[in-house]
Amino acid sequence: MSMIQNVKDMNPRPTCDRKDCPRLPSWQVGLKIWAKGFPRTPSTAIHCEIGLFLCDPCGRDTKPEDILNDASFELLERAARINGKAEPDRSSAKVELLPILRL
Ligand SMILES: [Zn+2]
Repeated sequence: MSMIQNVKDMNPRPTCDRKDCPRLPSWQVGLKIWAKGFPRTPSTAIHCEIGLFLCDPCGRDTKPEDILNDASFELLERAARINGKAEPDRSSAKVELLPILRL
């Protein structure tokens, strides 16, 4: 996937990304995860933008396991390895809801 495609994918869609949900997205959904053996404080969290845009109820309803399947966790692990970072701890994953700024 090209960088341009990635950037385009980060634009909020007109409707929520959950299947058949017609509401306007309120949140850009991300993931917060900590590396194994690191203290879980806000400053040590690894933030992952995943390009998912959800409405208020769908966003609040989303659990880490809805986002982090085996394949996506493997990508995270690989990214950590390539960047020389410690192994991410899957059990530490938390959903992060970032308000979408509409200008
Ligand atoms: Zn929704």
